[in-house]
Amino acid sequence: MSTVLKGIAASSGIAIAKAYRLVEPDLSFEKTSVDNTMEEVSRFQQAISTSKAELEAIRDAAKVDLGEDKAAIFEAHLLVLSDPELVGPIEDNIKSQQMNAEAALKETADMFVTMFESMDNEYMKERAADIRDVTKRVLSHLLGVQIVNPSMISEEVVVVAEDLTPSDTAQLNKKFVKGFTTDIGGRTSHSAIMARSLEIPAVVGTKVATSEIQNGDIVIIDGLNGEVHINPTNEIIQKYEEINKKYEQQKLEWAKLVNEKTVSADGHHVELAANIGTPNDLDGVKNNGGEGVGLYRTEFLYMGRDELPTEDEQFESYKAVLEGMQEKPVVVRTLDIGGDKELPYLNLPHEMNPFLGYRAIRLCLDQQEIFRTQLRALLRASIYGNLKIMFPMISNLDEFRQAKDILFEEKGKLVSEGVKVAEEIEVGIMVEIPSTAVMADLFAKEVDFFSIGTNDLIQYTMAADRMNERISYLYQPYNPAILRLVKMVIDAAHKEGKWAGMCGEMAGDEIAVPILLGLGLDEFSMSATSILKARSQIRSLSKSDMETLANNVLQMHTNEEVLSEVKRILK
Ligand code: PEP
Ligand code: MG
Repeated sequence: MSTVLKGIAASSGIAIAKAYRLVEPDLSFEKTSVDNTMEEVSRFQQAISTSKAELEAIRDAAKVDLGEDKAAIFEAHLLVLSDPELVGPIEDNIKSQQMNAEAALKETADMFVTMFESMDNEYMKERAADIRDVTKRVLSHLLGVQIVNPSMISEEVVVVAEDLTPSDTAQLNKKFVKGFTTDIGGRTSHSAIMARSLEIPAVVGTKVATSEIQNGDIVIIDGLNGEVHINPTNEIIQKYEEINKKYEQQKLEWAKLVNEKTVSADGHHVELAANIGTPNDLDGVKNNGGEGVGLYRTEFLYMGRDELPTEDEQFESYKAVLEGMQEKPVVVRTLDIGGDKELPYLNLPHEMNPFLGYRAIRLCLDQQEIFRTQLRALLRASIYGNLKIMFPMISNLDEFRQAKDILFEEKGKLVSEGVKVAEEIEVGIMVEIPSTAVMADLFAKEVDFFSIGTNDLIQYTMAADRMNERISYLYQPYNPAILRLVKMVIDAAHKEGKWAGMCGEMAGDEIAVPILLGLGLDEFSMSATSILKARSQIRSLSKSDMETLANNVLQMHTNEEVLSEVKRILK
């Protein structure tokens, strides 16, 4: 019997493959007393040697796929496993206290973890993390359960997970991971955004994928309609193979527009830019005809590592993107950490409301060394292309002024040291907090541009967590409340002769695009894979008709009314 789950279509396309559950294993056990302690010691030694063999294999694969740096982590784990200071006391406990191996391992390891963590020494704290990881691995072998690692997948699969963090998603190997589905998350959670840039079909927020899907089940991910089919019949598989074929043909049609300008049917030009997370995404931008980078989410440079990236490392990444884009505009957003994007090595306290907390520009203005390092790297890279700098999560004018002052201070210092910096760098802000949208007329006098971040603007305006699938119905991009804020921002920019862009997911949404064209948006920045479809759509629309549509929908009452009106017009 095939089962169908409903979720949120997060990344388009169809994937059909065996399921691979990326689920934290259950490592719970009872503490018991054993009679044959020699047998128990040998069971423990067996688990150690299986763990060693496994770690050696992971280390060797990591050296090839991820580089020596990442492989070093597994080398450290191997050292822990060979350390008599840890292994000795565990065996002693089994023998002297007749403890089962699981309990002896956990108790001894916990003692070392607590001891190392309480030391005021980064090196020892890292050793505590190593011991914790290694303990999990050995325990999993004692208990006979499998632990999972996304970077180790080596056959074609569909990944099934409760949630995927952005760094899990970054580790997915496109060659093998054909699609994924999660229990939680929304269309604008960062794992969904990354799935779109990796072009991996995804359905998120199914609530029950991990309880319904077993390892090895055949799964269809329908990223076009937000459906997941478990163990489908041959008939359904055939139907999806047909749908996939048609979708691939459609993409070939769109691909013909790769070198075309984006001009409406009545001759109005807009810019279609791409959102990127790393310099590796540039191929996608070029293949999809991006006219610029409208959002470079630099925080990914800071993730999946153990310490902050240095100024030089950052400089190389920014330079690569600017050079790669060959004088086309590149809007680089300064560090926007927080919310669902965590940096464990900053050791920030856990917060009740991370999306409303200590994050992005708030953290940068407070921990200025981090901010200044990034700004210096950006300024040094500025001579290699057409750089624009953008500050995230600006909620009031003071924040913008402070951030801009720091930028100019760093620029002054570099110039006085004789370092070359571009003369003109536009400095703008993300408009993603309602207070800033409301004050856009005043901001417009001080900024060079706006980029509307609707992923957050919608969550803050509707007071609806973008990660929470239970309230995903409140992600309402067409709600007139949102459309009016968007209009305020665009009008405010134009009144001061500035440009307004949008880099939230709404910019590439086929229902929103006609309205945004009518509202006069200048730049639409989206996942690269959405660009050609949007270009094809804009070429079929008349801007002046869309102005009428926009005026009309601004007076409507609900998201649904706007949705049906746009659908009616598009027919
Ligand atoms: C946004 O909030 O719309 C945005 C583009 O930024 P992010 O999705 O990274 O929060
Ligand atoms: Mg945002």
